[in-house]
Amino acid sequence: MTDYRADFPALTQNINGHPLVYLDSAASSQQPAVSIDAMTEYQRYSHANVHRGVHTLSHRATDIYEGARDAVKAFINARSRSEIVYTSGTTEAINLVAQSYARPDLQAGDRIVISHLEHHSNIVPWQMVCEQTGAELVVAPINERGEVILEQLYALLDERVKLLAISYVSNALGTVNPVQEIIAEAHRREIPVLIDGAQAVPHVALDMQALDADFFAFSGHKMFAPTGIGILYAKERLLEKMPPWKGGGDMILEVSFDGTSYNELPYKFEAGTPNIAAAAGLGASISYLQSIGMQRIAEYEARLLDYMTTALQDIEGIRLIGTAANKASVQSFLLDDIHPHDLGTILDHQGVAIRTGHHCAMPVMQLYGIPGTARASLGFYNNQDDIDRLAEGLLKAREMFA
Ligand code: PLP
Repeated sequence: MTDYRADFPALTQNINGHPLVYLDSAASSQQPAVSIDAMTEYQRYSHANVHRGVHTLSHRATDIYEGARDAVKAFINARSRSEIVYTSGTTEAINLVAQSYARPDLQAGDRIVISHLEHHSNIVPWQMVCEQTGAELVVAPINERGEVILEQLYALLDERVKLLAISYVSNALGTVNPVQEIIAEAHRREIPVLIDGAQAVPHVALDMQALDADFFAFSGHKMFAPTGIGILYAKERLLEKMPPWKGGGDMILEVSFDGTSYNELPYKFEAGTPNIAAAAGLGASISYLQSIGMQRIAEYEARLLDYMTTALQDIEGIRLIGTAANKASVQSFLLDDIHPHDLGTILDHQGVAIRTGHHCAMPVMQLYGIPGTARASLGFYNNQDDIDRLAEGLLKAREMFA
């Protein structure tokens, strides 16, 4: 695989006197120069509000903003651009579904099912909507490797369940859930499925039509695009039926004090002035990823994750947390009894960036009986040297604490 590091300005710097090794892409990935440039270009020469203006800058801004929506549609092979709703990120996308799809119909006795692997973003919105409606949130268990126990998940999917919300890839453990099979099983029981795709989009080639998810949420900043933008993909027939979640400009057709009619899809869900610069960046990041190919990225990262797992296992005193058979680009671990924050700080002094803590997945940590982990996560810009530097850093930490 070509070395793409030079395309990412942030990766070409020294940190604490060492060339940066960035192993925190699961939190936020770095942005390539082409994407940063697209944002700057928009800000410099095309900055204006979208949709409403008749002047040239407004037309340009609209073209950039709507062009990025088309890019997203193609990238995930959605059926129609009406199915692509801009949000501020995965969190907002899931809250939108909880409040606009689930809340109006949920009643006491109904259930929402999630898994024990979920990020807080795919737990708390469901807890909130259950509190609001009297419905019950039910959690499918995971085994000690960090895999959802499928038989137990499927056993939960009875007629009380109004929605299954589950991640594609776990941010804390890297587990890849067999979402294609899970969606098919849920659909066999006529249960719609929301997939939290935040950690899948940077690593997996996606095809919404083949996957058949009803809802699919993801964030720009995990896929080499800026913060402040994300996507809710949803099947058009579901979006048609859902009431708007936020009210304001752009989401309306006509407003009067006698009543308001709402705009067509997807604008019905996009109230107010959007993050146009972030959309410019997202569109450019998608073109960049397409020029490399998601399949190539997935294959390369699988080899790199194997290399990382072996390198970590070779370190005395290491305990890998999350050892699922099918994983993507994330490895959580503990080293002796060194606190993960200490590990993270010692590594940072050597220019190696990892994540430490509960990774917004406290229930996963509770299950393992630990407050948190150190987590190294990969992007396609990482290479074996990065992993060697991580291993060296961990050996140094061990010496310091010996
Ligand atoms: N879901 C998963 C699996 C994640 O990893 C994250 C972010 O870490 C989120 C949801 C929330 O994403 P955001 O903070 O961009 O809304």
